[in-house]
Amino acid sequence: MNAPLPVEVLKQHLIDPEICIRCNTCEETCPVDAITHDSNNYVVDPEICNGCMACVPPCPTGSIDNWRLVVRAEAYSVQDQFGWEELPQEKSLPVDAAVAGDAAQQAAGAQAEPAAAPAMLVTPGAAVPPWSAAHPYVNLYTHKTPITATVVGNYRVTGADTESDIHHIVLDFGEQPFPVLEGQSIGILPPGVDAMGRPHHARQYSLASPRDGERAGYNNLSLTVKRVTQDHGGEAAHGVCSNYLCDLAKNDTVQVIGPFGHTFLMPNHPKANLIMICTGTGSAPMRAMTERSRRLIGTADIGKLMLFFGARTERELPYFGPLMKLPRDFIDINLALSREPGQPKRYVQDLLLERAAQVRGLLADRNTCIYVCGLKGMEVGVLDALREVVVQSGEDWSILHEALRREGRLHFETY
Ligand code: NAP
Repeated sequence: MNAPLPVEVLKQHLIDPEICIRCNTCEETCPVDAITHDSNNYVVDPEICNGCMACVPPCPTGSIDNWRLVVRAEAYSVQDQFGWEELPQEKSLPVDAAVAGDAAQQAAGAQAEPAAAPAMLVTPGAAVPPWSAAHPYVNLYTHKTPITATVVGNYRVTGADTESDIHHIVLDFGEQPFPVLEGQSIGILPPGVDAMGRPHHARQYSLASPRDGERAGYNNLSLTVKRVTQDHGGEAAHGVCSNYLCDLAKNDTVQVIGPFGHTFLMPNHPKANLIMICTGTGSAPMRAMTERSRRLIGTADIGKLMLFFGARTERELPYFGPLMKLPRDFIDINLALSREPGQPKRYVQDLLLERAAQVRGLLADRNTCIYVCGLKGMEVGVLDALREVVVQSGEDWSILHEALRREGRLHFETY
């Protein structure tokens, strides 16, 4: 008898190009380097992906969590996926198809129960929010259905004579619903097209304002945007979205998508402490959380706030003036200036070590959550400093680190 051979089926991991905001989190997280990108899309290589799910919890939009059953020999290639503007429809499978291989089964199982990803070795932060965080809304507005916001404020928050041109931009949504939480981000769709003639993809910015608006009770929010004029190597480069945003005038309109993010959220319970560690425009979510806490003074039992803020100089530190006016018994401010004339170069991790006793005291309290936002390069230094602070007191950092991650008390957002 010549019975047909069973057809191998793969549960193929795909990224939805319509929702993806190209933030690179998945590519950085993937432990087997299965995710790559071109100027159009982020894609998953079916030859490499083992369905481990490590990339799924960190994705701020959920665009990563897409799967298609396909005949293995007909799996969508990386080149296919680069060309997509949307995900393909589900295909019907041959009746004798058999799900093949561990990867497909793992992916299927993991999808049914997307619990703890094996992210310990991959990402140092938590994949869950603090237990008391409010419920976030995500993806209310997409590339296909953006919302129009109106610019109601745009001003520079760094010294006019410095290289760092950082703007505080306030967007108003009028009567349209746009619910947000501190720590979430939005996407901005810059007008125009890229070098290939395609509309620009969204650029992601963290909220700098609290949930009840930049101006309390108003349906608005703020962003902290640095005008990009150089690439990471110092070569001249024109940031498409940052220049667009920094040049906006009052009453201009902007296309917005989001909100995004479901883990980098602040705790809501009384006496929750915040350790906030940031560099440059990574201060945006810290401003949002600080302002949320400030507005609760007198109405709720707020815990301790400790801020470690790195910038080149005082005049290049966004919001320096308003920050320094906050009461010292409300927030413990530590500024790490790296290029202030006449002062030694200091990074936030140096200050964590200088303030080890206070940091250790807060780390010993299970009500403490830690937020790190800013340059990618600071991640290692900050983790090393936290480890050092804990080890100095004879404690085991790996146990505490695992607990911080498991309990949603250590969060990173670095680029
Ligand atoms: P920046 O001015 O280039 O740097 C800020 C400070 O960080 C400087 O003092 C710098 O020192 C220092 N620094 C450099 N490397 C460091 C390291 N390895 N460890 C600790 N400190 C270090 O910062 P920026 O241009 O504003 O960039 C901020 C980052 O935040 C960007 O990558 C941005 O994408 C990201 N971000 C922005 C938002 C937003 O909503 N706008 C949200 C999240 C994240 P040096 O003098 O050595 O340069």
